[in-house]
Amino acid sequence: MNLHEYQARHILKTAGIPVPDGDVASSPAEVEAIARRLGKGVVVKAQVHTGGRGKAGGVKLAKDPAEAQSVAGRILGMQIKGLTVHKVLVAPAADIASESYAGIIVDRSSQRPVVMVSPAGGVDIEEVVAKTPEKIFRHAIDPRFGLLPHQAMGLALKLYPGVEQARKAADILQRLYQVMLSTGASLVEINPLITTLDGGVEALDAKIVVDDNELDRRPEIAALRDASDEADSERRAREANLTFIKLEGDVACCVNGAGLAMATMDLVKFYGGQPANFLDIGGSSNPQKVVDALSIITADPNVKSILFNIFGGITRCDDVANGIVTATKQLKFSLPIVIRLTGTNEKEAMEILTANGFNAGTDMDEAVKQAVALAKQAA
Ligand code: GDP
Ligand code: MN
Repeated sequence: MNLHEYQARHILKTAGIPVPDGDVASSPAEVEAIARRLGKGVVVKAQVHTGGRGKAGGVKLAKDPAEAQSVAGRILGMQIKGLTVHKVLVAPAADIASESYAGIIVDRSSQRPVVMVSPAGGVDIEEVVAKTPEKIFRHAIDPRFGLLPHQAMGLALKLYPGVEQARKAADILQRLYQVMLSTGASLVEINPLITTLDGGVEALDAKIVVDDNELDRRPEIAALRDASDEADSERRAREANLTFIKLEGDVACCVNGAGLAMATMDLVKFYGGQPANFLDIGGSSNPQKVVDALSIITADPNVKSILFNIFGGITRCDDVANGIVTATKQLKFSLPIVIRLTGTNEKEAMEILTANGFNAGTDMDEAVKQAVALAKQAA
């Protein structure tokens, strides 16, 4: 789950990291009032779950409340990378002396949280990694000890040669690691981490991505979710307890188990198709789950064929078959369905499906080939 900048800034501030004041607003009039209260030049920043807002025109400086209001009128409602701006952050315009980057990510290859800093901040960090990797400095944190003061200082000195500013940055890095632990984040990022003209070090932007698996035990973080920024299909899937990720292709996949779902998507690609989604209907699939899954899948206009791939272990194939029958009666869609199921109660499932006019097989390759061919025919 992504947090908005204004939410992430608040968390950083609470953790003792210097962050400029600021407030969030959803109308130009509110922006004007906040700018008046802040009492000097402000920056108005689009609150959407994507980076590169600066480049897209979603971050603008304004010299007085009137200009802030008119700038906000242009930013509110604009689209950035397909997302509509509903809220803006208004903050005092900072006097920037330098911009650098500081972030911590959960790194799969080292299996640890890795701190990354770069003096080349303010720009897309992926770009820095690709073009000037020598400007990135990393340290893998041993979670038994955390980020120790000398380690933080070593990184901070890569950003600032002066010891005063390096001390401030080291303190920020250590606090950032605490934020990562306390929010259950897979990524915490400050870009840019700035130095001000009077020598301060401040977080001007903040990004926190929370690991969804951490939300159950952190209701206060879960409450920060902005459902208006989620794809409709993903929200409905979450509410139905399905693991669903929308993709760009046209072969919808309805699978039990994350591993089989990944293998199914691989095979769809192998046979020249493009999966429309990742969907894991879970281990114990009662028929209602299949109905929910099909209703989400069929709402996507890109979908041209539907592929069921079920390996019955705990999941009973007859449950899935009943779900398919119920769903197709309820939802009345005309998309072709290819069904592969094998394992627990396979025979019962085949009987249910045959009695209701469906074909089903047990061969995964055959099913995937068919589903890809049907999608191509329809396209
Ligand atoms: P992003 O483009 O979505 O990452 O948004 P950022 O919050 O990082 O803003 C992009 C850029 O706008 C920053 O790198 C700064 O150069 C600039 N910027 C943001 N806030 C301020 C500010 O208060 N004062 C000034 N002068 N520039 C700002
Ligand atoms: Mn940024």
